[in-house]
Amino acid sequence: MRIVLLGAPGAGKGTQCKRIAAKYGLVHLSSGDILRQERAAGSNLGKKAQSYMDAGELVPDKIIVEMMAGAIKKAADSGFVLDGFPRTVNQAVELDKALTSAGQKINAVLNLEVNDQLIVRRMAGRRSCPKCGAVYHIENLKPKAEGICDNDGDKLVQRPDDNAEVVANRLKTYHQQTEPVVAYYKNNNTVYDIDANRTADEVTAAIFENLNAMVSV
Ligand code: AMP
Repeated sequence: MRIVLLGAPGAGKGTQCKRIAAKYGLVHLSSGDILRQERAAGSNLGKKAQSYMDAGELVPDKIIVEMMAGAIKKAADSGFVLDGFPRTVNQAVELDKALTSAGQKINAVLNLEVNDQLIVRRMAGRRSCPKCGAVYHIENLKPKAEGICDNDGDKLVQRPDDNAEVVANRLKTYHQQTEPVVAYYKNNNTVYDIDANRTADEVTAAIFENLNAMVSV
């Protein structure tokens, strides 16, 4: 299975992708996580991406497409769920080209729909583990001990690009550049619109229902 998860920042893509990957045995490929790892490692790619990420803007397509092409190739056998990529129509076109030349295609696109006000609230309360990348929320998805990662005991942090000003810019970027990707896929692929203004568990149930129906066809 090759799946794309679309949705605004804070729509819950990361949480849902982890659950989808675990249930269907897929590789979870998050462009944001890969970029954060590159930054932490101090690589050239990480340095190039830094200023865009901190401002809530998109890293240029060429850099992202190259980075994701390598990761997607490695995951070709097991199948994958893409999280945060593609984020522009150009990226979606490049992804389709790469898959077509490998005799593959995207099987399903899940579009998480959330209203902007809820996104701002969610992102203000989002905390993550700098070590393993696990994501929590101070109200909706609490760790067992406040401020501490369940997996490795590390201190949870707020992502620097989750501050209010950068969030506003990330939302603007989403509406301008990523929303057209939904329309692109609606022309060419099966897109499941999922109401993601609900709890993470309710959203997961809706996603699994759609994917199970698709797999059993
Ligand atoms: P995310 O964790 O998916 O919210 O991504 C964090 C930041 O990484 C974004 O605000 C962008 O600056 C950058 N980024 C992640 N994925 C992409 C992409 N597909 N295209 C361009 N920039 C990206």
